[in-house]
Amino acid sequence: MNDAPIKLLARARPEILALQPYSSARMEAGAGAIMLNANESPWPPVGTDIPLDNDASALNRYPDPQPRALRERLAQLYGVASDELLVGRGSDEAIDLLVRAFCSEGRDAIVISPPTFGMYAVAARTQGAAVIEVPLAKGFELDGDAVLARVTDNTKLVFVCTPNNPTGALAPLTAIAKLALALRDRALVVVDEAYLEFAQGATSAAELIARQDNIAVLRTLSKAYALAGARVGTLIAHAQIVALLRRIQAPYPLPTSCVDAALAALAPSAVEEVRVRIRMLVRERERVARALAAAAAVLDVYPSSANFLCVRFADAAATYRALLAIGIIVRDVSRYAQLAGCLRITIGAPDENDALLRALARQEAAA
Ligand SMILES: *Cc1c(COP(=O)(O)O)cnc(C)c1O
Repeated sequence: MNDAPIKLLARARPEILALQPYSSARMEAGAGAIMLNANESPWPPVGTDIPLDNDASALNRYPDPQPRALRERLAQLYGVASDELLVGRGSDEAIDLLVRAFCSEGRDAIVISPPTFGMYAVAARTQGAAVIEVPLAKGFELDGDAVLARVTDNTKLVFVCTPNNPTGALAPLTAIAKLALALRDRALVVVDEAYLEFAQGATSAAELIARQDNIAVLRTLSKAYALAGARVGTLIAHAQIVALLRRIQAPYPLPTSCVDAALAALAPSAVEEVRVRIRMLVRERERVARALAAAAAVLDVYPSSANFLCVRFADAAATYRALLAIGIIVRDVSRYAQLAGCLRITIGAPDENDALLRALARQEAAA
């Protein structure tokens, strides 16, 4: 890399910038015919049928820390360069790495806009960083001016979840660009796009990074790509931010079998099928939203660009219990600020959604 350091890098914790990172065996040398550098077993694990010792899928070998084939595929999928991409154990790991790299304990802070995803605050508090809460405005809109008013010299990260969990609302790209511009060289705007695939026609904030180096985007295979169990998430950011985070990432974050599963799910024909599924899911979301809006027990169905609906019920506790009693589990989000009486309902397969709607109709008939 011939670029001069970007100014935002100076906002990282000084001890992380000074750190001599761990250098793993797989980083120091690639593959040879006889691998005697990583204290691995020379044999495949007993009781498995993965026989090829030097195959990329061999489980007796440590995995590539940043598997090249997977990175290239993800870079293509998200339309970015592969050095702007860090693959890890879900977006959750990326959130933790960002907080650990930028926030000094007892001094620095992050900004979140509740009601939003809980992991930002958990990661910050684990690190001993303060959490500044700037509530979403009416209609669950991001309040950029209110965020800027609360940012101080010690604010390092501003989290924007879009589409937002648990409300489903999308933040306009223009609002994100404006926020990042105002925070240039001071704070990193972290745009969590875990549900962006379900927001039809929406554009990723990743396209802003070329001009605005204080934006990082989180993508995941956990939702639209049906790989929550494989734990594969991607952070997209300026190459120098990616390099910074690699200093503190675990040496071998991605299990070999998870990399294989991700590569299979990202084959061109598989991605085509995922697009078909997404279209079906969005149709189902709109169908369920209309049916719920007509139900007597429902006060409000909020517009959603994600694979769930945030729904306000006349008696959320009663509805939650009635659904639970017949084995339908939804998420009670009524304890969140601004969400009293709300349940978050994931859009399932059509027959699952039908079962949900039938159960609510029965609950009404019984009331
Ligand atoms: C589900 C979810 C994630 C988690 O992603 P993983 O890649 O599974 O860790 C991240 N952000 C939001 C807002 C989510 O709802």
